[in-house]
Amino acid sequence: MVLGDFLISKNKDRYESYVNEICNKLNIKSLLEIDLYDLCDKFGMKVNLELVSDGLNTAVSSGKGRRGIITLCIAENEQIERINLAHEFSHLYLHNHSQLNIDSVEINKNELEAFKLASNILIPSNELLKLSVDPELNTTYIIAEDVAKHFNVTLEFAYQRLLYFQDNYKFGRHEEDAYLYTMTKSFDMSYSKPRPIKIKYMDLVILKNSNLNKKIHL
Ligand SMILES: [Zn+2]
Repeated sequence: MVLGDFLISKNKDRYESYVNEICNKLNIKSLLEIDLYDLCDKFGMKVNLELVSDGLNTAVSSGKGRRGIITLCIAENEQIERINLAHEFSHLYLHNHSQLNIDSVEINKNELEAFKLASNILIPSNELLKLSVDPELNTTYIIAEDVAKHFNVTLEFAYQRLLYFQDNYKFGRHEEDAYLYTMTKSFDMSYSKPRPIKIKYMDLVILKNSNLNKKIHL
């Protein structure tokens, strides 16, 4: 089974709409098909790589549409580089103004928005719904560690993405699935009528990684 099989309800998320808008513009089905540097290039964003690891990543808007210059410092690993680039792309896509003259409330709002778009770019909701889940022991787990590996991001980023994902997507077993039909064989070789037994079920659970016991109910 896949995660989408357990979906009960979802809210509209405007960052998913942005991802659809980007895909339509580029004529692709999923943003996982495109390299992030190419993605920036397609929107007229120039990426300058800085050969320092402790500098600031920045995005400076040209003030014209979504164009601008991204300065990206060398990251510890490929996963962090991808997250940083998707984040700065998101700033230019969403915010065509400088962060220099705005207050801290506005900065926090912009940062959250950039995280939401970047996480939809790197871990699209429809791809999350395709993940296989393990209904063993009548419990279904999503392990953030597996999501991180699957989408080539850090564990922390995958975990934050799953927390945000569960704001809009609600999962559980449908009531029909909570019944098991049993066929009881009787001594004269005929079968009794199937008897519905209500089984106890648990909600889907996110585990941060396979060693941690941090459970989040979806
Ligand atoms: Zn930022």
